[in-house]
Amino acid sequence: MEDLGEVIHVEDSVSPVFEISAIMRSIPGEPIVFFENVEGYDSRVVGNVCATRRRLCLALKTSPERLYRDLIDAMNRPENPRIVNDGPVKEVIEEPKLSRIPVLRHFERDAGPYITSAIVSAKSPDGSVENVSVHRLLVLDDRRMTIRLVPRHLFRLWSMAKEARRDLDVAIAVGVHPAVLLAAASSPPFGVSEYGVANRLLKGGLKLIKCEKVNAYAPAESEMILEGRISHFEEAPEGPFVDITGAYDARRMQPIVEVINVMRREDYIYQALLPGGPEHMLLMGLPREAAIYDAVSKVVPEVRAVNLTMGGCGWLHAVISIRKQSDGDAKNALLAAFAAHPSLKHAIVVDEDVDVFNPSEVEWAIATRFQADEDLVVIRNVRGSTLDPSADIETGLTTKVGLDATAPLMLPKERFERANVPISDRAAKIIESIKLSLGRG
Ligand code: MN
Repeated sequence: MEDLGEVIHVEDSVSPVFEISAIMRSIPGEPIVFFENVEGYDSRVVGNVCATRRRLCLALKTSPERLYRDLIDAMNRPENPRIVNDGPVKEVIEEPKLSRIPVLRHFERDAGPYITSAIVSAKSPDGSVENVSVHRLLVLDDRRMTIRLVPRHLFRLWSMAKEARRDLDVAIAVGVHPAVLLAAASSPPFGVSEYGVANRLLKGGLKLIKCEKVNAYAPAESEMILEGRISHFEEAPEGPFVDITGAYDARRMQPIVEVINVMRREDYIYQALLPGGPEHMLLMGLPREAAIYDAVSKVVPEVRAVNLTMGGCGWLHAVISIRKQSDGDAKNALLAAFAAHPSLKHAIVVDEDVDVFNPSEVEWAIATRFQADEDLVVIRNVRGSTLDPSADIETGLTTKVGLDATAPLMLPKERFERANVPISDRAAKIIESIKLSLGRG
């Protein structure tokens, strides 16, 4: 990334209390940012590591066109990683002292410093199921944190341990390969270890080590591993915390994790991940884009691209471009998309000539190819996202809207054609030099 010019180094002293998050929020183009001097700490902080599609594709050695297929393939055919006895994360093994880690305070009304880039792995009591997922962790003191457990896979493992009146052993790893982070953010069925998905994405390159004091595994190349136990009875208030929508998520009672051992690299780098930022949206949204791509591919001749847009919080709004064969295709695509990603609220289907990543082109398609009386699909009283502040507070129900912004096949094609100008080599050169001079200015 350094060689590609994707990294910025901040040498000035910065505080992990609001300053780093303020700087990360304000940097356009999302370069990777290295904070070399963090006030009061010996460790460096890095942010925006997975903040662009381009960088994620480079890390996964794939292209944007192949990314969804790779991810779906990895989820369908996970492959167990190798277990090794040693790795760089074992350079230092020490007693926990969480106050020595430069954990960021991100937003004004957040409950406190939150670890946001960690993957949490655990096994079922009988050892048959392993799960790896991303959870926010509120640091309470030198050994304790509260963990937000949404009722999904890790919650299920914790409930199993709770029934046996036992704490759940967890490995909390910070600073892992983007493939591991992306796999942990995806949702293969319960029983499939996300490590297996990551290992498949890395073509067999993932190595795990067993924790020293708990029964859980973590990547041997992590920057840092916190070994802990999620209490089966002890809870503490968690939140408010800014989630993917950029709004504050509520305060709830959540279980406490006690950290009992720390492994880390000698000069570990602490990975920051800005809540509600592009990186958060991309990591959460990409696996859903892949699911939408897969589902829509089954009902229309060809899906060109899917974008869970940044304006839609990388979660609630999808734009899907398709090559359609008959006029009902776009509406089938809408239904498939809503089924594939239950949190999806508004979806727009466009033709293959529209760039789903360009909001103006998408709006152009709505302006020129959409008629509400024919092309609008409204589905009332359906389950949506709990993160949507406008959803019904009591029931969580929302209304979903789909827009078919594809040109009708019944009408002449020329009517909807996007006008084009042929570009000669000479014109192309002049355009390039104008762009360059504008860039310098
Ligand atoms: Mn899972």
